[in-house]
Amino acid sequence: MQIIKSIDGLKRAIDKITIDDRDIGFVPTMGALHSGHLSLIRRAREESTTLIVSIFVNPTQFLEGEDLDNYPKREESDRKICEVAGVDILFMPSIDDMYSKDELSISAPSIRGYILEGTKRAGHFDGVLQIVMKLLNLSRADRAYFGKKDAQQLALVMQMVRDYFLDCEIVPCEIIRDEYGLALSSRNAYLSDEQKSRAYQISKSLKRATQLVLSGRLESHDIISNMRLVMSDIDEIEYISIVDRAFRPLDTLEIGNSMILVAVKVGGVRLIDNIWI
Ligand code: AMP
Repeated sequence: MQIIKSIDGLKRAIDKITIDDRDIGFVPTMGALHSGHLSLIRRAREESTTLIVSIFVNPTQFLEGEDLDNYPKREESDRKICEVAGVDILFMPSIDDMYSKDELSISAPSIRGYILEGTKRAGHFDGVLQIVMKLLNLSRADRAYFGKKDAQQLALVMQMVRDYFLDCEIVPCEIIRDEYGLALSSRNAYLSDEQKSRAYQISKSLKRATQLVLSGRLESHDIISNMRLVMSDIDEIEYISIVDRAFRPLDTLEIGNSMILVAVKVGGVRLIDNIWI
């Protein structure tokens, strides 16, 4: 595995691969890798001749007061995980390399970018799209792998690829959970055991929603109020939203075209989860 920290180094490494053999899978991450990231990496490994993983804690997607400075860092174990998973290039650029002063910006779409995650984290998706655009261009990825856990991010990245005619396929990957159902996240490291046991109510509420749907109860308000009951020990429910795959709110859930999205806070830690139905 090559560990590359400069943009020039990455360019040289990719240039060395002859065009005919160039079939690049790319997994962008912010590090503190867990089995969720690993599932993306494994899938990309199976489907690509060259596998590039990036680790970059992107400052422009953090809002004032968020956890940028404390974001978990585990460089040594991240390297080992990538090495064992068969990553060819681990790209770890610096902030100065990735950004210059007074750059042009990319804006998330004014509707889909400013609902749900975009309401509480206004501007977050501008930063996400900006860094993803840069990384897709630098990695020259044929395919880039993103988790369904960040469903709105995934949808907006897909839209950017469409709107800007980027030549890259975005591959959605399933959510990986721990044995009790909690969706894996680098931020779970902030949770105490007691907070974690309360956080399990998030996936329990999604399971409850699935049961209701299976029993034919499709009214969004009914599903949402039942989910709230299950999450009785969660400190703050920011939103529970039932939308179609284009992120339009649904009064009645449509099987095969719906997502139930949840954002909560447990002990000050913001957690998101969702299920696609
Ligand atoms: P992050 O390092 O949090 O920016 O995540 C990097 C990528 O991993 C994103 O595409 C996430 O959606 C994906 N990811 C994070 N957690 C999970 C998970 N539990 N299951 C599947 N994918 C995930």
